[in-house]
Amino acid sequence: MISKLPHVGTTIFSVMSKLAHEVGAINLGQGFPDFPIDPKLSALVHLAMQQGHNQYAPMPGLPALLEALSEKVHRLYDVTYEPDSEITVTAGGTQAIFTAIGATVHPGDEVIIVDPAYDCYAPSVELFGGTPIHVRLGGDMKFDADAVQAAITSRTRMLMINTPHNPAGTILRDADMKRVVEMLRGTDIILLSDEVYEHLVFDGEPHASAIHYAELRERAFVIYSFGKVFHATGWKMGYALAPKSLMTEFRKVHQFNVFSVNTPVQHALAEYLRAPLHYEQVPALYQAKRDRFLNGLERTKFRPLACEGSYFQVADYSAISDLPDVEFAKWYAREKGVVGIPLSPFYQDPPKDQYLIRFCFAKQDATLDAAIDKLCGT
Ligand code: GLN
Repeated sequence: MISKLPHVGTTIFSVMSKLAHEVGAINLGQGFPDFPIDPKLSALVHLAMQQGHNQYAPMPGLPALLEALSEKVHRLYDVTYEPDSEITVTAGGTQAIFTAIGATVHPGDEVIIVDPAYDCYAPSVELFGGTPIHVRLGGDMKFDADAVQAAITSRTRMLMINTPHNPAGTILRDADMKRVVEMLRGTDIILLSDEVYEHLVFDGEPHASAIHYAELRERAFVIYSFGKVFHATGWKMGYALAPKSLMTEFRKVHQFNVFSVNTPVQHALAEYLRAPLHYEQVPALYQAKRDRFLNGLERTKFRPLACEGSYFQVADYSAISDLPDVEFAKWYAREKGVVGIPLSPFYQDPPKDQYLIRFCFAKQDATLDAAIDKLCGT
């Protein structure tokens, strides 16, 4: 059998989580919280199950949840996405991304991907016969609008952007988004804006969502995740927003891919979203964790890069080792007992002489402190 993805192995997240388990290391690799969800939220799921909401939800999502999401988006961005036709509940952000690509990318189409890029982007494009065109973030891991603009051709079908950025931890700002508006104006390029870390933007910066920009909105799939916001990555719950014409195509693929997603959890989320505090408190929670981890890193030989958003802190380890990053991450897990994620797997062509590792700080303070103690022993 000829592989459809000959270059793809097991994701670095699975590899490093398995290693963490095997060697008993503190796992700051794969991005997931190690603290519990709000008991109110689990009680709502339980209640929904007890009330008998255990059969298929409607294909695009539970109407009450679609309504709640429409209200949330309106509240945050002063824009209305129609619950009936412009919002779909998905089995996580990754499925939403896959489905958006599957619905719109034709064989031979080019899709611009900004490296380091989340690892599902390029394989999803390839599976549908598209050609990933890789450009890079610029200095300090900031969005490089000129590089992106230079990659646009008559074959470009889609541009994928991500803010806050995983794995870099940087954000796009209003000026960056305005450049995106300009470069897409007059084209039929679709924008896929991966905003799953929407509520994890720090230091009082606004989240520059594609939703804010009318010219982007009309061509954009905007992707969100409940797992990141409500500390429940294992629920695999997310949603996509898009104008009706795009969402119609999205749903054609969605219905044959997953059909619909977890019913009792949708009931619970619809109710839970009625209290905006449940997502409004998220930035402060994670900013405190970022600061705690960052302060701790000062006592180590790791040199942190700026973390403006997401729950990832990238650090340079060149003062500790000149091993390539994958080897370093594995060695560090075994020898020092802390797992991080190397950055090279997020590049088509990893930069030479780059010694970066990503740590997830979505952890209890005790976990962060224990990890810092180990990171100090370098
Ligand atoms: N989003 C998570 C991260 O970046 C990983 C999820 C996964 O393992 N696919 O760490």
